[in-house]
Amino acid sequence: MNGARIIEKASPNFNDRPAGSPVDMLVLHYTGMISTEAALDRLCDPAAKVSAHYLIDEDGTVYRLVPESRRAWHAGLSAWRGHRDVNGRSIGIELANPGHEYGYRDFPAPQMSALTDLAGAILSRHPIPPRNIVGHSDIAPDRKLDPGERFDWRSLAERGIGLYPAQAGVADGDVLSLLAEYGYDTGARQVVAAFQRHFRTRRIDGKADAETQSILGSLIAEIRRTD
Ligand SMILES: [Zn+2]
Repeated sequence: MNGARIIEKASPNFNDRPAGSPVDMLVLHYTGMISTEAALDRLCDPAAKVSAHYLIDEDGTVYRLVPESRRAWHAGLSAWRGHRDVNGRSIGIELANPGHEYGYRDFPAPQMSALTDLAGAILSRHPIPPRNIVGHSDIAPDRKLDPGERFDWRSLAERGIGLYPAQAGVADGDVLSLLAEYGYDTGARQVVAAFQRHFRTRRIDGKADAETQSILGSLIAEIRRTD
């Protein structure tokens, strides 16, 4: 595990985690800003009231903004598996990328490699199950698109971080019920699109077609086998 190149850049934007709450989620974001400098400024600006535990630049440099023991402010209004205080129980990582607003582009190899190392280290410190490694869009489907369809969840899962369906499955039930079983807040209008943005990026149209259902079925079989 490569622990090198972590730069301390303390953000004032955090508070205490709720007593007794486990740290059992990892939430990935993109910064959605023109430059890494602008993103770091914002994540450290007391007036902005936002932060994350880490930011990873495109060249693989890792900045530590908030200690993992504290509650960083990255998720906002969100929900996963019925939990609404996602900040209270998660680690948040920001990936430098201009995002859909300023010129969305691929996440370069050094950035993905640094993320793989960092996430591996985080998983060794906290009891985070694979299905709780999510994107911001998974936990806030109606508000957020990040880290978005260019993020390579498959390669991450191949390195033991998160779930990605390896084979087709069968959805034995109603799509919304199965999405809820996986963890999604099915009160969100864009929940199927959010699922596709993570697990079926070839077409994100919000329609629960046969392929989308098959992928969902495969994931559900996986969590029923392992939970
Ligand atoms: Zn985000």
